[in-house]
Amino acid sequence: MEKASHLSVIVDLSPTQWHLSAQTSNQHPLSVETFLSQLLAFLNAHIASKHENSLVVFGALPGKSVMLYSPTELLSDDVPSLDANSYLPFKLVDSTVVQRIMNEFDAIGELKEEPPCALVGAVTKALCYINRITHPSSTTAGVAEDPSVIHDPRILILSVSPDLSSSYIPIMNAIFSAQKLKVTIDVCKVYGPDTVFLQQAAHLTNGSYIYLERRDALLQYLIMSFLSPTPIRKILAVPKQDKIDFRAACFCHKNIVDIGFVCSVCLSIFCQPLPVCSTCRTKFPINTLKRLNAARPTITPANSRIGLPLANLNNTASPRPTPTPPNGMSSLR
Ligand SMILES: [Zn+2]
Ligand SMILES: [Zn+2]
Repeated sequence: MEKASHLSVIVDLSPTQWHLSAQTSNQHPLSVETFLSQLLAFLNAHIASKHENSLVVFGALPGKSVMLYSPTELLSDDVPSLDANSYLPFKLVDSTVVQRIMNEFDAIGELKEEPPCALVGAVTKALCYINRITHPSSTTAGVAEDPSVIHDPRILILSVSPDLSSSYIPIMNAIFSAQKLKVTIDVCKVYGPDTVFLQQAAHLTNGSYIYLERRDALLQYLIMSFLSPTPIRKILAVPKQDKIDFRAACFCHKNIVDIGFVCSVCLSIFCQPLPVCSTCRTKFPINTLKRLNAARPTITPANSRIGLPLANLNNTASPRPTPTPPNGMSSLR
């Protein structure tokens, strides 16, 4: 029998990106209002699929992340007045999510400039929530979910912002936590360029990354790809990305690099050969640095390419001297 599933949805609410997304110069303009109405239909579909299904919604806003909906943390003024024509669980999700987003947008209006969206903060909160419902022994009393009924928890990220290269390390740490908790991360890229880090998040947690080509068909994409729980996806053949950008960000400047240099001791990634690793303070021989610097190709847009998979770091990070590969990750020894 199909078991109950948990879904944490993370909505990227960057006002600038949503403003750009709604421009009529786009081929398929999508305003935040249309997006929300389709998202709420999807959330209702998840609740309706099975009575025990659980749902939490987080918002990634400029400079902060907030919980927009959780069945266990409803305030008394969140509960809408009863209406004979609506199903209460649907109405509860719809009104709570919309009301809290409107409150947050009102608060943003007072900011002088827009800090980047706290997407990693929202992912971390979602992971903490999942950890709490799947390991109730370490929680405070009051969480009613039975650990035996929560299976295959999922996180769905609806992203509109581009990659924030300074968040590379936190996002990788979040991916490792998700792997440990056996959480699947799905990503729907609603607007903007492909994000390298979210592609890797979906790939490494066995989720699916979908770039929305027809943004007027958002609800169809959501229902076809992200409504089914993970065990059923084997039968449904949910689309996955066919090519993944595996590039990493350097630890020194937080730039996404095509060619990186890896410390052979701690596996930190740098965009140029350094005499001393800034993370673990290992010193590298001067001759190696000279050799690596001499071997660096000049990067032009024509020869920039998709980098090597992160797994290759282990191969190149051996402590013995290795010849410099012409491209990709080089070991600093
Ligand atoms: Zn750098
Ligand atoms: Zn190091």
